[in-house]
Amino acid sequence: MTVDLRDYIESIPDFPGPGVTFRDITPLLGDSEALKTATNALVDYARRQGATVIVAPESRGFLLGTPIALELGVGFVPARKPGKLPRKTVSESYTLEYGSATLEMNADAIKPGDKVLVVDDLLATGGTIAATNKLVERLGGEVVGLGFLIELTELQGREVLKDYDIYALMEYE
Ligand code: IMP
Repeated sequence: MTVDLRDYIESIPDFPGPGVTFRDITPLLGDSEALKTATNALVDYARRQGATVIVAPESRGFLLGTPIALELGVGFVPARKPGKLPRKTVSESYTLEYGSATLEMNADAIKPGDKVLVVDDLLATGGTIAATNKLVERLGGEVVGLGFLIELTELQGREVLKDYDIYALMEYE
């Protein structure tokens, strides 16, 4: 039986504000076959790209990054919101539509030469992943690919991330 992953994405109009359609991935996470299909596709991609480490930004990226790392047999590194990691970190700030955000990573989490697959649930403007990539690269890692469940094509995150290989399982406008 093949699983159509689009059946497991709920589109919520006007959330979190008027005119915005939120793509809710929780039905996909809640179905073991859909979750397995999505995870396996991203594991295959990680393998094709030769990834030796999986990195994901807080928090929905963690839900995918950990099972992918486990299945691939590599480690997982979180990029966290500020103030959560108690040891030495590197930090990157980026702009959001209103205001800014920061991500931090343990300074010893990536070794020079590590081949990193960065994963997240969804690619929108690309700001979150651009900041995550910078953290990896500042520590000497090489970003060998970016994997997502969903790409929102209209927001043109691909332009911001044009130097990277991108693989998304589903596209929405
Ligand atoms: P970007 O930095 O603009 O690419 O935004 C991507 C981040 O925003 C991801 O970490 C997503 O979790 C979150 N995000 C933005 N829009 C949605 C959505 O419609 N559904 C789920 N997550 C979203």
